Amino acid sequence: MANLSLRQIYKVYKGAKKKKIKKSEAGKVRSGDFTAVQDFNMEIEDGEFIVFVGPSGCGKSTTLRMIAGLEEITSGELYIGDTLVNDVEPKDRDIAMVFQSYALYPHMTAYQNISFGLKIGKTPAVERDKSTLVKDKKGKPKFILFRLFGKTLKEQTDEDGNILTDADGNPLYVVKRNKAGEEIKNKKGEPVFEKRGYNDDEKYGAIIKGEDGKPVLIAKKDKDGNIKLDKTGKPVFKMRKWTKQEIDAKVRWAAKVLGVEDLLQSKPAAMSGGQRQRIALGRAMVREPKVFLLDEPLSNLDAKLRTTMRSEIVNLHESLKATFIYVTHDQVEAMTMGTRIVVMKLGIVQQIDTPTNLFDYPENKFVAGFIGTPQMNFFDVKAKRVKDNLALTFANGESISLDLYKMRKIREDLLDGQEHSLVLGVRGEHINVSEKGLTLSINITELLGSETHLFAELEGAETKYIICLKDRAVYYKGDKIKVSFNESKIHLFDTDDKSVLDRETAQQGCYNN
Ligand code: ATP
Repeated sequence: MANLSLRQIYKVYKGAKKKKIKKSEAGKVRSGDFTAVQDFNMEIEDGEFIVFVGPSGCGKSTTLRMIAGLEEITSGELYIGDTLVNDVEPKDRDIAMVFQSYALYPHMTAYQNISFGLKIGKTPAVERDKSTLVKDKKGKPKFILFRLFGKTLKEQTDEDGNILTDADGNPLYVVKRNKAGEEIKNKKGEPVFEKRGYNDDEKYGAIIKGEDGKPVLIAKKDKDGNIKLDKTGKPVFKMRKWTKQEIDAKVRWAAKVLGVEDLLQSKPAAMSGGQRQRIALGRAMVREPKVFLLDEPLSNLDAKLRTTMRSEIVNLHESLKATFIYVTHDQVEAMTMGTRIVVMKLGIVQQIDTPTNLFDYPENKFVAGFIGTPQMNFFDVKAKRVKDNLALTFANGESISLDLYKMRKIREDLLDGQEHSLVLGVRGEHINVSEKGLTLSINITELLGSETHLFAELEGAETKYIICLKDRAVYYKGDKIKVSFNESKIHLFDTDDKSVLDRETAQQGCYNN
């Protein structure tokens, strides 16, 4: 597990070539250098579930790939834990990546696919206490093969696993019994005891732990006995291969967590998309990385399976307690999975926040429109303060008055009594059909069982608006309705698309004049 720190990260693709493009895309063409990610700053806490979301091409995969080490960082600093990893190889970053295409080996079984990385990988060797090795009669440690395959008598233990002894301090052994529960005796009439294999302390020596309770790793030394250091100035540790037993235990643990124990001997061709995705997750899990990076891992699955896998990944995050970074262009996926979400557009971070804060307090018009279904409605308005109210004039010339003290606190410079061009943002569920208010004309009515969605137009405006009513209602094309807005739920954006409202509700008398 680890925290991550992204500091002023940039990705510039040098000399990205001019592409042949359609006429409709003219103006979006780029030539020369192309900045795919700009000034990305973020502190990610250990164990968070972070989602990068945004439209295609916004730079989310590039950022993820820079964290993975698959893409070079043009400038800025990336820390995993307290290590600067800009120049650290992907394999040394302690991360595991799961891609949209599962990238399983088709000729291997699920077991082989999950264990592949461990078989070719290594783990740090730890200092062991040789005094605990099983000894022969002369007191010398027994030969390794004997330790691995030899057996000894099984001791009796109490509930806490402590070995029980007789009055002289000699261990008591477990007597073998037949099916009827009677003690088995040998020809001489002596009891026969159960046997066990040697435990890891006896086979390899007990793991020596440091003051922090963690195993002590063996640092490599040069000829002069000095500890070898890597590029980042950290000691280089001796590595060893995983044992077969360790690999087996890890594969079975991952298979159990993912519910794919029955599939371990199947090959990918005989699996469904969801099963393959789980195997790909298993392959990442067994490495027990500090950080899981997932790039649109569910986009190849059908809608139903996506929903199931979504909650499975959330459960997996909860049980592993590792840091997850997840890329998607689907805002529903982002809202349901992330503890925090990073909304990106054209390589620039728009807002980093919790799902509810993004919904309630979007910092700009892009975030407001991107998060939430149906999409937020936007009205161009002229806003003018009149005493304790804000008068909004719409494209059709009508005005409505909002109580400033029922709204969130507005930026003070907009309260100077002058007219300001703003954009009113309001979600369909916060618009009420009322006796007086703004006149809209109905275009389409959608009855959705318990709810009704009205699609409406405003004279003088080109946009279509959606109103979500909690009840059933019947309106016909061309019907005129009056609507009012729930003042505490409205959003206002300036001509730079920035929100002009505070998160706090205005308190009576909070404005200077
Ligand atoms: P998608 O959801 O479509 O994968 P994304 O948000 O993940 O989109 P990226 O893959 O990060 O987007 O790409 C960001 C931008 O960088 C895009 O405009 C892309 O065309 C550009 N880009 C990516 N790789 C390269 C490259 N090797 N050379 C030049 N430009 C690149």
